[in-house]
Amino acid sequence: MLNARGRLSMKYWQLAAVAGLTVGCAAVGWAQESVSYLVRVEDPTSKLIHVEAELAAEGDTTYVSLPAWTPGHYELENYARFVREFRASGDGGSELRWDKLDADTWRIVSEGTTKVRVTFGFLADTLNLSGSLLKEDFGFFNGTNIFVYPEGRYDLPARVSFDLPEGWGVATGLSDSEEPGVFVASDYHELVDNPTFVGHFDIDSVLVDSVWVRLAVYPAEYLDDSRTPARAMALEALAQMARVLHDLFGEPPYDRYTVLIYLEEGQISFAGGLEHADSHLDIVPAITFQNPRFTFRQFLYRLLAHEYYHAWNVKRIRPVEMWPYDYERRQYTPLLWVSEGITDYYAHVVLTRAAIWGEGEFLNAVRDWIIQTEALPAREAVEDASINTWIDPTFVDRYMYYDAGALLGLLLDIQIRHATENRRSLDDVMAKLYHEHYLEGRGFTTNDFLAYVGAYVGLDVAEQFYRDHIDGRRPYPYQQVLTLAGLSFETDTIIEPFFGVQVASTRDRRMLVRQVVPGSAAAAAG
Ligand SMILES: [Zn+2]
Repeated sequence: MLNARGRLSMKYWQLAAVAGLTVGCAAVGWAQESVSYLVRVEDPTSKLIHVEAELAAEGDTTYVSLPAWTPGHYELENYARFVREFRASGDGGSELRWDKLDADTWRIVSEGTTKVRVTFGFLADTLNLSGSLLKEDFGFFNGTNIFVYPEGRYDLPARVSFDLPEGWGVATGLSDSEEPGVFVASDYHELVDNPTFVGHFDIDSVLVDSVWVRLAVYPAEYLDDSRTPARAMALEALAQMARVLHDLFGEPPYDRYTVLIYLEEGQISFAGGLEHADSHLDIVPAITFQNPRFTFRQFLYRLLAHEYYHAWNVKRIRPVEMWPYDYERRQYTPLLWVSEGITDYYAHVVLTRAAIWGEGEFLNAVRDWIIQTEALPAREAVEDASINTWIDPTFVDRYMYYDAGALLGLLLDIQIRHATENRRSLDDVMAKLYHEHYLEGRGFTTNDFLAYVGAYVGLDVAEQFYRDHIDGRRPYPYQQVLTLAGLSFETDTIIEPFFGVQVASTRDRRMLVRQVVPGSAAAAAG
C-alpha cells in the first residue's frame, strides 16, 4: 500500500497541440489536431464549473455538441440543459455569433478564424452517477457533462488542465501527461469515460500485478485510520478482487484502476456505482463507512466487485450495438442481460473466489435473484427488458435483467460445467469474448455469445435455451439445472394474499424459496 495524500494546486492552460498523440483519422492533416480543455472552479458556492474548450474551426460554421447520455446509464439526460453563459470567440479573442441547432448542439459562425474557443458555466448540482456536483470543498464531474466536442469528431485527442482553488487536488482515471496536473486522452471516448474528483478527498493505492489500484474517497474523514479500519478493508478487498479478475482474463487491461467513492451524509434515495474502462464512481450513504465490518460485507464489496467486473464486461466486452458509443442518441441492445446480469453473477463469483465471501453468501444471493425474478408482476423477456430500460416502462421493473440475467449466467455456467465435466465454464466464454472480440477491436452479438456457449453444451442446446429464456418468456429451469450442481430447489407456496415474498433460511447447499403466488413461474419450474 502507498499513502498519497498530498494536495496539488494546479493552474495550467496549455493551448499547444499535444505532441506525439496519434489520431484515428485517415487525413494526414489531422495528425496534430486536438481539443484543449480548461476546467475552472472560481467559487464553489456558485455550483458552477467553468469550462473552456479550444478547438480548430471547421470552415465557415463550426458545430459543437454535448452528449445526450452517459454510457452505462441508459437514459437520455441532455447535459446541455445545465449550460449557461455560453460564449464563442475566434482568433485574437473576437466574439463569434452562435445559435442552437438542436437540443445538444451549438452552431458557431467561424468564418475567418482558425480556432474557436468556447466557454460556459456548467451547473453542477446533480447528485447522480452520471451527473456533476460542486460543494464548498469538493466536486465531481462526468466528462459527458462538460466536455463539448466538434460535431462528428470522436477521434480527436484531448488535453485537460485545471484551475482550482488553493489546496484542491484532482483524481481521475485520465492518463497523466508529462506536465504535472495536465491529463490527456487519446480520443473523445477515453476523455468522457473518466469521472473526476476535484477538491479535498482521501486517495490511497495498492499495487496488484504491477498495476496500481487507487481508492479516492470523499469526505476524507471517513478513512481516518485512528478511528476506522475502512481504508485497509477496502484496499485489501480491491486487491483481492483485482487478482481474481486479472486471472480470469489473463491480464490487467489498464495501466491503473481508480475507484472513486462519494459518501453522501444527507438523505439519499439511491446508492450505486457507474462503470468506466479504467475507473468507476460510486455514490453511497456515508453510513456505509461508519461500520465497515458490517456494511462492507453486506453491501459495499458487492458494489465494488460489480463495477470492477464491468471494466471487462461492457466497457471492453461490449455489445456490437454500442461499439463505438454514440453520445447523441439511444443505442438499443438486447444484450444488457449479459452486460449487467452476467456482471452481477460474476460480482458474486469474484467475491467467493477471492474468499471475501463464503459459499453461504453466494447461495443467499442466488436465492435472492430467484425471489426477485419470480416476484415480478409481469414476465418480460430479458432481451425486451434490455431495450425497454431506455423508456422506464410502467408495467415491469426496468432493471429486471440484473437479477434475471445473473440467474441466466448461473444456469449457463452450470450447464457448461456439466457438459465438460467441469473443465470449462462461463469463465471461458467471457475470456473468449475479451480476446476474440475486444482485443480484435469489435463488439459482440447474441450469436457470438451463443456460439461460444454452444461449443461446450452443443449449439442446439444453447439456441433452445436462448429461444426459451432469453428471447422467450418461459420459466427458468431451476430444478433441472441446479440439480446438476448438487443444489436442490424447492418452492413452498403459501396461500396468503398480500403477504409478500417469504424467505426461509439457507442450510448447507440447499435453497428454499417460498412464494405467495400459486402457479407462478417458480412453482411451474419446480
Ligand atoms: Zn452494472
